[in-house]
Amino acid sequence: ANSLLRVENLQVHFPVLQGFLLQRTAGTIKAVDGLNFALQPGETLGLVGESGCGKSTTGRAILQLVRPTGGNVYFKGRNLAQMEGEELRQMRRQMQTIFQDPYTSLNPRMTVGNIVSEPLIVYQLAKGKEKQERVEELLKLVGLNPKFINRYPHEFSGGQRQRIAIARALSVNPDFIVCDEPIAALDVSIQAQVVNLMQDLQEELGLSYLFIAHDLSIVRHISDRVAVMYLGKIVELAESQTLYTNPLHPYTQALLSAIPIPNPEIEAKRDRILLEGDVPSPANPPCGCNFHPRCPYVMDSCRQDPEPFLQDVGNAHQVACHLVNSEQGV
Ligand code: SF4
Ligand code: MG
Repeated sequence: ANSLLRVENLQVHFPVLQGFLLQRTAGTIKAVDGLNFALQPGETLGLVGESGCGKSTTGRAILQLVRPTGGNVYFKGRNLAQMEGEELRQMRRQMQTIFQDPYTSLNPRMTVGNIVSEPLIVYQLAKGKEKQERVEELLKLVGLNPKFINRYPHEFSGGQRQRIAIARALSVNPDFIVCDEPIAALDVSIQAQVVNLMQDLQEELGLSYLFIAHDLSIVRHISDRVAVMYLGKIVELAESQTLYTNPLHPYTQALLSAIPIPNPEIEAKRDRILLEGDVPSPANPPCGCNFHPRCPYVMDSCRQDPEPFLQDVGNAHQVACHLVNSEQGV
């Protein structure tokens, strides 16, 4: 009931345009197609799926950087999907984002001090000496030497640049951050450091994260719960521990079996589920269960019946698969 964020039937559909001057609508891309989930204060929800599944669009639609074509996004009980102008701008201050690529998300011509303080100026939160002190405090908070304040992004490593992006996001005291693959572009040796920093900051500041990744191994340790997305829909959502030890959707099982296990003995013994084919085009999704052309357990009903709903199977675990839902013996 006291969710920080509640997403209700969120949809982002784009028309596919065709013909001379693209004047004809030839179909619809359902990039995000009916998502429901909530996020509690201080919680991290991992959002995982292959590229093109709609996870970045989901993050952008929550922040209203892309306007949803359907559904509602409640932040602190207020519906952002119906908000505009100054009211929306003030809500957005509380919701920041960190992108995948610190190389392109930072303006190369601005000093670190100006990058980190820009949101403070935009929202008129601090100026002069107070602003300077706030920036130094933020740099320390993310583990950077405040003496670097007059340096430029190119003088930093990838991990340091992501720290600068985090400091910038934190400058306006947000409650919620969409982290869109924030460590995917970093060296493996640096990834853990940035994740640890984000966890420390979460504890210290009470932040909530939507942590987007294409790989289940990355979100494992940072997420309280994980949602797995396929072709614009959530196919499984559970507490992390449950999802990793008892994955029920064949797609989740396949994603998990693709993670290498460092121990060669276990690695040799376990069954791998190989996914056949590529992700189908969201402009022309398969009938029935969207996953059926790639599913190792496909049944006739998967092609013929309407697509499976995301259903509660107990233990705060939700799955959208005929196999699982029929086993519940409803
Ligand atoms: Fe596989 Fe059928 Fe379940 Fe879809 S509904 S995931 S095709 S078993
Ligand atoms: Mg993406």
